[in-house]
Amino acid sequence: MTDTLQLDKRQRAMLAEMGVRVWTPIEQAATKVIASVTVKPTAVDVNTQNANNLDWPSLREAVTSCQACGLCTSRRNTVFGAGSYASNADTNNNIQPVDWLIVGEAPGENEDAEGEPFVGQAGQLLDNMLRAMKLSRNGELSNASKSQQSIFITNVLKCRPPGNRNPSPEEVAQCMPYLERQIALLQPKIILAMGRFAAQALLRDSIDKVDTIPLGKLRGQVHRLGHTPVVVTYHPAYVLRNLPEKAKLWADACLAIATLNQP
Ligand code: URA
Repeated sequence: MTDTLQLDKRQRAMLAEMGVRVWTPIEQAATKVIASVTVKPTAVDVNTQNANNLDWPSLREAVTSCQACGLCTSRRNTVFGAGSYASNADTNNNIQPVDWLIVGEAPGENEDAEGEPFVGQAGQLLDNMLRAMKLSRNGELSNASKSQQSIFITNVLKCRPPGNRNPSPEEVAQCMPYLERQIALLQPKIILAMGRFAAQALLRDSIDKVDTIPLGKLRGQVHRLGHTPVVVTYHPAYVLRNLPEKAKLWADACLAIATLNQP
C-alpha cells in the first residue's frame, strides 16, 4: 500500500489518547532533516553608503560584518587596515588626523588569513620602504630613527578576491564608501596610492577617464582628492616582479615626503 493515512490534529490526538501510534512515512521524516540544513551566507542588499555616518569603531564593525558583495562568502577575515594611528585616538575613541594614508588594492591570501593589510612579501617590501622613510606601521622604530608621523595602511577592498583576481567594478563600488569614510575620519595629510586600482578608485572624480591612463603616466606628480595631495606609485607586488622599477617606487616615496614637508 502506497497511500498514507491523512489525519488532522484532532484525529491524531484521539488516536494518541487510545494508545495508537501513527506511523510517519520516511519521506516526511527526511524532509524535516533537509529543512534544517544551514544555508551559506550570500551577498545581501546592504547599503554601504550609510558608512558616511559612522564613527571609527562602528565603521570597523560594519566592515567586519559586511555582506554587501559576494566576497563575504569566500573571505576568512575582513581587513580593515592597520597603523600607528591608534596612539592618536582620544579617550572618546575619536580618531585624530594622520600624516600618511597608504592605500593598496585588496587583501591577498596572507592578509585574508591574518586580517591585517600587507603582511605577505609585498608587505615586507612596503615595511622596508616605510623604514627608509622613517615611518613604521606600528610606531615601533629605534629611537635614532623615531618619527613623529602617524600612518594608516588599508586597501580599496576590505575582502580578498578569490585566487587574488582583480577587483570587479561592482566590488569596488560597494566597498568604496568604507575607504571614503576612513579618509574623512583620518583626514590624512598625504595619500600614497599603490597600484592601478588604488589610483583609479581615489582619482576617479578628479581625473577624467582615469581608468584609461597608464599608471606610469599617473606617477611622478601630485594629484588631489579634494584638498588632500595624492601621490600614485607602483604596487609593491608589481615591483617584486619587476625589480628595476624599485627606483621609481622610491622616487615616488620621496615626492610624497617632499609634498608633506612643504611649508
Ligand atoms: N596587496 C595589497 O594590495 N594589499 C594587501 O593588503 C596585500 C597585498
